[in-house]
Amino acid sequence: MKAKISIFIIALFAFAFLEPLLTAQPAGNKVELSAYIDVSSDGNATVKIAIQYKGRATFFMTLPKFQPVYLCNETGIGKLNIQNETSSAYFYYNSTITINDDNPGRLVLCYSFPSAVLMAGTRGWFMSPLLWTNLDKVSVYVSLPMAKKITYESPVSTSISGNYRVYTLSAGIPQDIGNRVTIEFDLKENVKENILQEKTPQTIITVRYPVFYRNIAENTLKTAIKSIQYLNNLTGVTPRNVTLVFYLPEKKMGGIYALGFVLGEDVNAGGKGPIYLNLALTRYAPGYMETTIIHELVHVYLGIVGVEANDATRWFHEGMAQYLSIKIAEAIGINVSEYKNDMYNSSKALYYYTGGKFGFIQKWPSDDVSEQEAYLASFYIIANISDSHGGLSYAQRVFSELRKHPVSTSSDIVIVLSQAAGRNLAPFFRSLGFSNIQDWSPTPSAGNTVTTKDTPTLSSYMSLIVALGLSLLIFLVVYYGNFEINQKLKMGIFEML
Ligand SMILES: [Zn+2]
Repeated sequence: MKAKISIFIIALFAFAFLEPLLTAQPAGNKVELSAYIDVSSDGNATVKIAIQYKGRATFFMTLPKFQPVYLCNETGIGKLNIQNETSSAYFYYNSTITINDDNPGRLVLCYSFPSAVLMAGTRGWFMSPLLWTNLDKVSVYVSLPMAKKITYESPVSTSISGNYRVYTLSAGIPQDIGNRVTIEFDLKENVKENILQEKTPQTIITVRYPVFYRNIAENTLKTAIKSIQYLNNLTGVTPRNVTLVFYLPEKKMGGIYALGFVLGEDVNAGGKGPIYLNLALTRYAPGYMETTIIHELVHVYLGIVGVEANDATRWFHEGMAQYLSIKIAEAIGINVSEYKNDMYNSSKALYYYTGGKFGFIQKWPSDDVSEQEAYLASFYIIANISDSHGGLSYAQRVFSELRKHPVSTSSDIVIVLSQAAGRNLAPFFRSLGFSNIQDWSPTPSAGNTVTTKDTPTLSSYMSLIVALGLSLLIFLVVYYGNFEINQKLKMGIFEML
């Protein structure tokens, strides 16, 4: 059931994109498509798309929206027509290519492709542009002059041709990331690290970055300074040190889907430790990097006010982080419309598809599919309550309550949210399938009133056992689990360069 839901959501995004593909005229075997990707030492690349044809033909493929695409071989002038249509992939058009030539021939389209390779320390990571077509396959030739040793590739290369490793993208060959080649490798030369630092009266902010990414580090620092100033006011607490570091989107680190993380143990130590940012964010649509920085900062601030990072509080951590990342980004003048639309639309889609049964997030799921839904469900809940109680000013009241009351269960959190809203939110949470949620009423002792309304079948013994189990779980997570708080967005795949 849950697997289907997630596929459904991804399919929502995919279908809008696939539709033109399904309706485009197939070109049969008349056309052969090869992409040559030459990466230079700074990681940027030139892409040459060679179109080998036997006569007139029409086919579909993705071409970049923000990079000029031009004909590299002059003999092809007048023989080609390109019709670009907007797709749901932010950086790409659905392009219909028409060959107006009765004779066999070869045309070459060229475009620049920045940050084809990302590098940090001893490692490099390559991802091709999106190469989607209605032809049977695309042959992809990749030249990586900085690579010493390939350690992982998807799909597996079929051969070596001169300086190129050769890959085939086709429906029958599994790929980690659809219609893309990804390669992980050791570098011939290590990439040095630099530091940027800003000392504000309350907080020292440090950004550690591989030397290639000075601009990205500068923007990261700017966003962090503004966000920290905003969060200091909103939350009433201040971190003394915030360090932001970058890592590569390698498979073992969660690939392109985990946008950033802070370690759970660092949150539990009062919001200490660095914020890790995925370098793949440099290839995401505008707004993703900034919202990820704010998202991770919110985890840090929640840690400072004492909201533990455990499986029972995780939904609150993630919901607040997602929601505030959008609201604060807007407040400090960052364009987050792409990301905001993605979050609101997909969380609403999940709500309607599941009938709003979100109780499963009370114990944060560990499998990938459910976790993706848990992020959306958490965002839906926090956005729904916050938007109808004053947005950022509501969040300010929530933090004011959190500073007074430690929280470690969903029920504690609902009390805090109710207190900040000035109304009992327990029925709303029960309607979403939450269990063991206490009612709140605006009296001083309200927080201590226990009601069993929502758990009529659960005896007090059972409650005790559940509570003990939960404590054990929290203990295990805090003391043994070096677990990470990730921000994962599978739908982001359509938002990448
Ligand atoms: Zn998070």
